[in-house]
Amino acid sequence: MTKLVILEYPDPRLRKKATAVTVFDDALRHFANNMLETMYAAKGVGLAATQIDVHKRLIVLDISERRDQPLILINPELLKLEGSGPGEEGCLSLPGIYDKLSRATHIRVRALDCKGESFELDAEGLLAVCIQHEMDHLEGKLFVDYLSELKRQLIRRRLEKERKQRSTGSELRVLPLGAAAPGAPMRRSSTPAL
Ligand SMILES: [Zn+2]
Repeated sequence: MTKLVILEYPDPRLRKKATAVTVFDDALRHFANNMLETMYAAKGVGLAATQIDVHKRLIVLDISERRDQPLILINPELLKLEGSGPGEEGCLSLPGIYDKLSRATHIRVRALDCKGESFELDAEGLLAVCIQHEMDHLEGKLFVDYLSELKRQLIRRRLEKERKQRSTGSELRVLPLGAAAPGAPMRRSSTPAL
């Protein structure tokens, strides 16, 4: 299997809208497995094809602690959205950035599997959040779009600085919680990245 490169915010390719998957062949199954491999390697709980610059409607997820319950949703559609609650989200395309936003707490989704067969799934809690987050990626939308412009600016600046440090090989300094400027996004390593 191959580990794929995950695009990072604010890469404009993350803004492309994905199109439906129409061919269900070995290449698709191989691709879905590579996406899972990439997600596990990055310690994420979800990944959308958009994040690896493939603009097809395919997402992979695994919220299990043992990382042994992979889910592949192709051409997913939300049939029901109920309730609303705040939760903290991160994203593999925004490494180290976490913030709170509100999502539906109970959803029903219809999708196709790798053979092109339709199934429905009821989800709540983290899985419901994760599916909504990944489906946003297919529309070119990121969780920071729900935050204020000021917060997005802070996030862009922080990511840019960290990328520069990574490219010059200097060590990343992780601020302790509470040391960030007021209004700045906080890091919480316990929140899974999606
Ligand atoms: Zn994401």
